[in-house]
Amino acid sequence: MSDSPRRPLDERLAAVHCQVLARNPGESEFHQAVEEVLESLGPVVAKHPEYVEAAILERLCEPERQIIFRVPWVDDAGAVRINRGFRVEFNSALGPYKGGIRFHPSVYAGVIKFLGFEQVFKNALSGLPIGGGKGGSDFDPRGRSDGEVMRFCQSFMTELHRHLGEHTDVPAGDIGVGEREIGYMFGQYKRITNRYESGVLTGKGIGVGGAQVRREATGYGVAVFTEEMLKATGRSMSGRRVVVSGSGNVAIYAAERAQRLGAEVVACSDSGGYVVDDGGLDIGLLRQVKERERGRVADYATRRGPGARHVEGGSVWEVPCEIALPCATQNEITGPDAARLIEGGCIAVAEGANMPTTPEAVRLLTGAGVLFAPGKAANAGGVATSALEMQQNASRDSWTFEYTEARLEEIMRGIHERCATTAAEYGSPGDYVAGANIAGFIAVADAMLALGLV
Ligand code: NDP
Repeated sequence: MSDSPRRPLDERLAAVHCQVLARNPGESEFHQAVEEVLESLGPVVAKHPEYVEAAILERLCEPERQIIFRVPWVDDAGAVRINRGFRVEFNSALGPYKGGIRFHPSVYAGVIKFLGFEQVFKNALSGLPIGGGKGGSDFDPRGRSDGEVMRFCQSFMTELHRHLGEHTDVPAGDIGVGEREIGYMFGQYKRITNRYESGVLTGKGIGVGGAQVRREATGYGVAVFTEEMLKATGRSMSGRRVVVSGSGNVAIYAAERAQRLGAEVVACSDSGGYVVDDGGLDIGLLRQVKERERGRVADYATRRGPGARHVEGGSVWEVPCEIALPCATQNEITGPDAARLIEGGCIAVAEGANMPTTPEAVRLLTGAGVLFAPGKAANAGGVATSALEMQQNASRDSWTFEYTEARLEEIMRGIHERCATTAAEYGSPGDYVAGANIAGFIAVADAMLALGLV
């Protein structure tokens, strides 16, 4: 169950909150994501009664469609396995449903709904014409052979394909789903539909319609957003000690881009522990171990030699830093972690992962004056570049790395600006959480009003 709210909710918002709790029992992550948005919206409903009259909030908290399905597949030993698949098509007021697919044993309806809800606001904030959705399965790809992963992806897509389409619903990757999995799913979609509809999935490999920079986009965007946030207070990342959690897609490229901005990235992690590398992470080696060999950070430490040490089972937030980039999973920075970060001299936290900071930790950090960038804003570079991939697929074009990266950076600076101006306009200057929630909400709410009661 989530923490008690930071400030009491306006009574109209409190009623929405109660309804969400009653209609979605046991889905604590979804409750937490909704509460965090509602906490920001008091000044908005006060200024815009039309949103309340049209029940925009109640409608926003109820997904347009939720699909749950069986995924049968056969493992390498010939045994039949059954997993559960999900796709929550949350809101299509601004465009086709758009959001990743997560394969992780912790996946259940509450996780997919929290991610889908966040995605609606994030996509709106990006300024691009995309709605919000999310999907996944409780399948665990770790330790599975290529053949097993392919058979699982094919079975997952055999059911899901009927709900997708480049103008309907366009999934991408997330935890446990990268280029390999997207390729297998795209292959199965193509086979079933007899259509080379590249725009139906993003995050594809470059050879099959993928876009330059999509792989790097989420992480790069996190670093660029962090730099913008620091710049706004007359500081920069250069020369600062950075800790990244996770060592997957988002973490690797957040670390790489932070290094390009002159930061010293000294630690990263996985679910087995963390590695501290005082010489600064060797991104080439990290990519070799994690992307090509599908190894662990412990393997990185062994290969890196005496400068790097692996701590089995510990939390990476034990490592003091000036900038923290949580890029692994939800609720990974707890209250005690936040207290430790503040004590260690942390000046900024930017969420690469979705909702990695608990409400208690957010309160402690912001209360101590630490700059805080919520995932909806800081990690929006991934979905924004997915939208650029859709544009290229639609026009059968392909852009260069440099051009695409420049577009990504422009989008991230735009998101930063939108958050900062909106927060100031609604009476919370410097509060990026309020800025992101309000700006995203208004874009979706206005589109919903324009479309009538649908
Ligand atoms: P990956 O699967 O590539 O990497 C995930 C990393 O986080 C791995 O190092 C993994 O370690 C670690 N991790 C995952 N779950 C846990 C856990 N329960 N406890 C400890 N460590 C964990 O995923 P991504 O990098 O794609 O995604 C990371 C986060 O970023 C997620 O919150 C995702 O929703 C968010 N995100 C991703 C985007 C994208 O474009 N990929 C876009 C926007 C947000 P291990 O291998 O040991 O499990």
